[in-house]
Amino acid sequence: MSNYDFDYFVIGAGSGGVRSARIASGHGAKVGIAEGRHFGGTCVNIGCVPKKLLAYASDYGPAFEDAKGFGWTSEKPTFDWATLIANKDKEINRLNGIYQTMLRNAGVSVFEDYAKFIDAHTLQVGDKTIIADKILIAVGGQPRAPKYEGGENAIVSDDAFYLDKLPEHVVIQGGGYIGVEFAHIFHGLGAKVTLLHRGDQILRGFDSDIRHFLASEMEKQGINIKLETDIDKIANNNGKFTVFSTKNDEISCNLVFSAIGRVPNTHNLGLENVKIDQKDNHEIIVNGHYQTSIDNIFAVGDVTDSLDLTPVALAEGHVLADRLFNKQPDRQVGYDNIPTAVFSSPPIGTVGLAEHEAIDKGIEIEIYKSTFKPIRHTLSGRDEKTFMKLIVDKKTDKVIGVHMCGADSPEILQGIGIALKAGATKFDFDRTIGIHPTAAEEFVTMRTPSSD
Ligand code: NDP
Repeated sequence: MSNYDFDYFVIGAGSGGVRSARIASGHGAKVGIAEGRHFGGTCVNIGCVPKKLLAYASDYGPAFEDAKGFGWTSEKPTFDWATLIANKDKEINRLNGIYQTMLRNAGVSVFEDYAKFIDAHTLQVGDKTIIADKILIAVGGQPRAPKYEGGENAIVSDDAFYLDKLPEHVVIQGGGYIGVEFAHIFHGLGAKVTLLHRGDQILRGFDSDIRHFLASEMEKQGINIKLETDIDKIANNNGKFTVFSTKNDEISCNLVFSAIGRVPNTHNLGLENVKIDQKDNHEIIVNGHYQTSIDNIFAVGDVTDSLDLTPVALAEGHVLADRLFNKQPDRQVGYDNIPTAVFSSPPIGTVGLAEHEAIDKGIEIEIYKSTFKPIRHTLSGRDEKTFMKLIVDKKTDKVIGVHMCGADSPEILQGIGIALKAGATKFDFDRTIGIHPTAAEEFVTMRTPSSD
């Protein structure tokens, strides 16, 4: 008879933790999970899901204007932030409940409390002491706090979902995923947006053509992007703010939103009691089996140095449970060709290598590019274009990178991701019949390599 209360105890009921707990329980393990805040974690509560709902709301702003070209007339529509947030909260509460029910239905014991290590097998969970054979740390991350003078006046993404009202003018710091996505959200809902980014172009790491294309589309819409500019300090004048930039600008605004990356949630976990190896930035170090420096303790998702993407945490949590409790030691997460999207306007969908990455790898490449006006905007009159790019390995003919900035690109790129995973060649793309009339068909009709 085992001395353990649980075979597997999961700390954190976010994407990775919930999936791992459910799968492990399905394999017959006795599983517990502790969550002190939101069931479903960042993604469901203060990340991907509410962000997508707000992005949909934002899309309606321009859509009302676009409808005129199709014969629609109406009174000028008005927008009510409080209704949006209340409806969003209702949906998120529903999902939150579903996550708890899902865990309980899967036979997982749920603890609505924070867990802290006492030793490698012992956890303090609220007022209970729990002894577990294997422990998974899946506590995710949180927004990095700004460090400059007056930084306490800036909100971070966690707060953005609960604002009392839509700001008139918001200054966003950071040109990464969150900065760019919220620039779209606030701008589409009617706010003035200024985006400050310390680098020479937004979305570092993405394909250079895509970065420039999106930045120019955002600027056309009226979003003010200030590159190589950061925040020096913020002054609070009775709830109105002045941002002093590193370029000596003074920008008056109603809200400052800092989106400068995320840090792992490793504080208050009692890690000092188990001496788990961490990187300088506090990410937990794991080996190829998601095992930490302590044999029986594992970690997945944003708390490690893995990609901060929900589907990656889900895959890692699932594979780990299969390995530990279903005798599938060889199960692997495939980290190549992970498709990703930025829910900007227009959105970005991308999979595989960016041009600079292919060049850095010494691959001889052929590039195919296309920029065009989507059919919808021939009548809407909106000056919005779509951009697509294929990167092909000249030697093997394999398509090694696909990038799109345009309506529906995240939906389109999910399918293209399967093609790349299956090793599709340019010949395969060429012999695929297009769906007409769509934007996506352009991916199978690009015949002439780009000359630059
Ligand atoms: P990102 O890492 O994407 O971007 C951070 C931005 O802040 C970059 O522009 C970065 O500049 C800048 N920055 C970093 N540190 C500082 C600093 N000290 N001072 C000024 N600027 C700074 O982080 P986000 O916060 O936008 O998002 C966090 C993660 O969440 C993302 O990396 C992504 O993995 C995930 N996410 C995914 C989404 C999706 O899949 N659609 C949506 C939202 C988040 P520089 O480029 O120069 O480093």
